[in-house]
Amino acid sequence: MTPSSKARRLLVADDDANVLDAYRRVLGELVGRDGSTSSDLDDLSAELFGDDPAPSDAPALLEEVIYCRQGEDAVRQVEDARASSKAFAIVFLDMRMPPGIDGLETARRIRAIDPDVNIVIVTGYSDHKPSEIAAAIGRPERLFYLLKPFDGAELQQLATALASRWTLDTGIADELAKRVAQLERMYAELKASEARAQELARLDALTGLSNRSGLSERFQAEVQAATAQGRQLSVLYLDLDRFKDVNDSLGHAIGDGVIRGFAERVSQAIGKDGFAARLGGDEFAVVCFDRPRVAELSERLLQACALPYVLDGDTVRMSVSIGIAHCDLGQPDLVEAMRQADIALYAAKSAGRGVAMEFAPSMERDILGTQRLARDLARAIATDELTLHYQPLVCAKGSPIYGLEALLRWQHPERGMIPPLVFIEVAEKTDLIRDLGDWVIRRAFADSRLWPDLVTAINLSPAQLRAPGFVERVATLAREMNIDPGMFELEVTEMVLIEDVAQAAEKLRQLKDIGFTIALDDFGSGYASLAYLSQIPFDRLKIDRSFVEDLRSKSGADGVIRSIVGLGASMGLSVTAEGVEDVQQHRFLQEVGCTHMQGFLFHRPLTVEAVLTLRGSRPEIRLSA
Ligand code: C2E
Ligand code: CA
Ligand code: CA
Repeated sequence: MTPSSKARRLLVADDDANVLDAYRRVLGELVGRDGSTSSDLDDLSAELFGDDPAPSDAPALLEEVIYCRQGEDAVRQVEDARASSKAFAIVFLDMRMPPGIDGLETARRIRAIDPDVNIVIVTGYSDHKPSEIAAAIGRPERLFYLLKPFDGAELQQLATALASRWTLDTGIADELAKRVAQLERMYAELKASEARAQELARLDALTGLSNRSGLSERFQAEVQAATAQGRQLSVLYLDLDRFKDVNDSLGHAIGDGVIRGFAERVSQAIGKDGFAARLGGDEFAVVCFDRPRVAELSERLLQACALPYVLDGDTVRMSVSIGIAHCDLGQPDLVEAMRQADIALYAAKSAGRGVAMEFAPSMERDILGTQRLARDLARAIATDELTLHYQPLVCAKGSPIYGLEALLRWQHPERGMIPPLVFIEVAEKTDLIRDLGDWVIRRAFADSRLWPDLVTAINLSPAQLRAPGFVERVATLAREMNIDPGMFELEVTEMVLIEDVAQAAEKLRQLKDIGFTIALDDFGSGYASLAYLSQIPFDRLKIDRSFVEDLRSKSGADGVIRSIVGLGASMGLSVTAEGVEDVQQHRFLQEVGCTHMQGFLFHRPLTVEAVLTLRGSRPEIRLSA
């Protein structure tokens, strides 16, 4: 609203009817030239004020003038005006208005109602000093005096000036009020966006689930409700199995899609039984509101995750491992519960993945044992506590040695000899496998210089082959150590193929291109389908020791071996039988067509010195297959 558009109203209070008429005549001209002025009034005015009327073509300045004869009436008028938002710009008050309250009291009450109105005290003689009046009424800057009898022009001038000033003041006040309202709106918006920002800080951007801080906040809120109702909260720690492989092989976009899809399934599976949070990467937490429901809930989560994810034409199969811990009834502690759930998760992963396990104190001891072993192993790799033994590989006919399989040995200073399968598993779980695998390759390359005419077989673990840059590292090492890759056979198990055939096939092909030969170790012990055999450039099958062992006890074992050998032969592969311990086994295996053998019947794994002694004393081992 612009200042000039504001209605300007004026109030006059005087007990003398004649004086009021005089006001009417002078002020009426400011209201407009609508004939409200009369010649009688003109005369009276001239008589009273000794003055000419104001020029009648002055612009209408006032909207309305209200006249009353008593102070109480004036106060009431001001009250009404305030109530209907039609405030007065100016009030002219006679000092004495018997029988009612005088001008001073009227002014005091009016000021209390309307702090902005301009008050003009009209007085014939001074009963009070202006300073006293100002002190009694307040706001001296809006307090004025007019001496009776007043001059018409002076009254008009005063009314005009004060009306304009009021317009300006209230206009500014309006403007200010608008600005204040605007500021308040801005402040409210700011508050809202701040609240939103705080909410976002508690949410995970990718999935819309709570993040870590959201989890602990919500957990605290749930603790109160649960404690009040005597419910026991449980915490589930979820980790997608081998998610890193999906990310590495299919790219981060697909990886993100899996995470988002999984988050949705988790939310759905939970329903009203709890809430979920993403802890980062492929790790999630679920808080279950009621312990008795947690088993069923984790079953639903396992199933929900197992359904295939179809993303951009790729079908991805995932599983999830879950660790479960229960909070104390009295004092639920999220950090402790998560720690226990994490340990249970580790146990679930070790138990083969895709399962849920509840925390048990024994798990903690196992983990401590594993951690200690991992720490010792790291030291063992660095300080050469490890050695390689070599088990001779022989040709089926006449059993001359054509090669040596490198087998890891760890003589632990306190715990004695630790079987390779035990510490290799620890290495695979703790990422030590890369250093360990590199150590074996380097050692075997170096040792092989002592038997340049023999093939050296090296075992590769799936985790080792999976690690990025493996092929390049082996190639570099072969070049640096100046070995002939053609004299090395790399042994991998079916486990390599179960996880990602395409990637494994590619890496094995690269190794073969460098010149290494590739053997499929422990053949028949895994669960991989035979379809991969044609996709992977194997040179050799090694029949798992268990089949050879079965020859002694189980009927039908011979049939199995026969068909494996037949399969190998039809694909043009060499076939080695492992674990040959007696002459009958040897004879049978030779009969059915095994080309090579390995076992205690021929040689146990030997130290490097023992190999050299063996070679010195047995010249025929120089014969190469
Ligand atoms: P593997 O690759 O199947 O190695 C053959 C295992 O059979 C060796 O056990 C060997 O001592 C044993 N063996 C050989 N002939 C006979 C026999 O006639 N009868 C019986 N009962 N056993 C026989 P070892 O040395 O305990 O190694 C066990 C496994 O540990 C290996 O199985 C291999 O999978 C793994 N391993 C050993 N060294 C390495 C290594 O340097 N790297 C990797 N990744 N794995 C290794
Ligand atoms: Ca092997
Ligand atoms: Ca084997």
